[in-house]
Amino acid sequence: MPIVNRVAAMHEEITAWRRDLHAHPEIGFEVHRTAGIVAENLKAFGCDAIVAGIGKTGVVGLIKGRRTASGKVVGLRADMDALPIQEATGVAYASRMPGKMHACGHDGHTAMLLGAAKYLCETRNFDGTVVVVFQPNEEGLTGSLTMLEDGLMERFGIQQIYGMHTSPTHELGTFALCAGPMLAACDKFTIDIAGKGSHAGRPQEGVDPVVVAAQIIMALQTIASRNINPLDSVVVSTCVVRAGEAFNIIPQAATLIGTIRTLSEQVRRHTHARLRQIALGTAALFEATAEATLEGDVPVTINDAEKTKFAQAVAGEIVGEANVKHMRPIMGAEDFSHMLRKAPGAFIMLGNGIGPGLHNPGYNFNDAAIPLGVSYWIRLAEAAMPA
Ligand SMILES: [Zn+2]
Ligand SMILES: [Zn+2]
Repeated sequence: MPIVNRVAAMHEEITAWRRDLHAHPEIGFEVHRTAGIVAENLKAFGCDAIVAGIGKTGVVGLIKGRRTASGKVVGLRADMDALPIQEATGVAYASRMPGKMHACGHDGHTAMLLGAAKYLCETRNFDGTVVVVFQPNEEGLTGSLTMLEDGLMERFGIQQIYGMHTSPTHELGTFALCAGPMLAACDKFTIDIAGKGSHAGRPQEGVDPVVVAAQIIMALQTIASRNINPLDSVVVSTCVVRAGEAFNIIPQAATLIGTIRTLSEQVRRHTHARLRQIALGTAALFEATAEATLEGDVPVTINDAEKTKFAQAVAGEIVGEANVKHMRPIMGAEDFSHMLRKAPGAFIMLGNGIGPGLHNPGYNFNDAAIPLGVSYWIRLAEAAMPA
C-alpha cells in the first residue's frame, strides 16, 4: 500500500511547510517561530485543544476521534529544533540564518506530524484520542524531560507514545527499528587535571598536566577493551582537550571533555566508576590531582517489544514487510528515551536515502519520504484505536 491517498494529495503542501521551516532554523528552546507556526496550523486544522508553552516552547495538540469510548490515548512526537551548523547543501530554500541549520531533519519531522494532524482532524476515523507532541531542544537532550516535568503524560493521559527519525543510512522507501535498546544512553564527562606550571625547559620543577592528560586519554580506552564484557557495548570518546597556550610553558592545568555511550544501566554505572578511578589514579601516579564530573541524564531508548511489533506491522502496510528493516542498536542518543520510560511505545527510523550523515552541513531531509512518514503516523493512530 500504499500511501494513504489523501496524503499523496497533501504532499506539495507539506513539502512547502518543510522547506519554510528549513529556511528558518531555530535552536534549543528558542524555537519561537516554529512553535508559533505549529500552534497556528493545529488551530486551523480544528484540533480539539492546543496547549503551547509545555516544556518552555513545546506545543501539544489534542485530536478526538469520531468516538472516544475506547478511552485510548496515543501520543505521536516530533522534535522542532535545529543545530549550530553553517549549511552547505546549496538548495534554494537553504537556511537564511547564518550558523544555524536543520541538519538533523527535525524540519521534516515537524512538517510530517503537522500533515498527519491535518489528516486526522479531517477524518477522525478512530475511537480514542491522538495527542500530537512537538518538542523543543532535542539536540540539547533536555526538551523531552522539560515537557515531562510540565506534566505532559498526565495532563493528556497519554498511554502509549511513538517517535520517528529520518535516517540517511537507510534507503528511501524503508523503515528500520528493533525491539529493546535501540539508541544509547548519553553522558558527558569532564576531567580537570591540576599540575604545576613551569618553564618548558625545566620540567623537573613542575608537574606536567599535559602528559597526565595524554595518559588518561589512552587509559580510558581500556574501559571498552579490558573492563566491559566484549559482548556488551560502550563508547568512551574524549572530544575536547584543553591545556596551555605557549610553546615554552608547561601549563598549570588541563581539561578533558567527552562522552560515554552505553546500552545498559549496569554497563553505564561500571563505566562511570572506571572513568573516575582511571582519572584520579593516573593523576596520582604522576603527582598531579584530578577531578571527574559526570553529567547528563539521557537514558537508553528502549522500544517496548509488543509496540515494536505493532509499529513494524503498520510500517509494513505502507512500504511492504520486506522494507521494514531490523536494525542493530546505534550509539547515538535520543531524548525521546525519557518519554518511553513513562509509557510503552516505539521509535522508528524513516529511510531518507543514503547520503550525507545527520549533523553534516550537506545533509538535507528528503521530501520524497514525506508521504511515507505521514502515512505511518496516520495508520499508527487508526490501527491503535480502530473505529
Ligand atoms: Zn540530531
Ligand atoms: Zn535528530
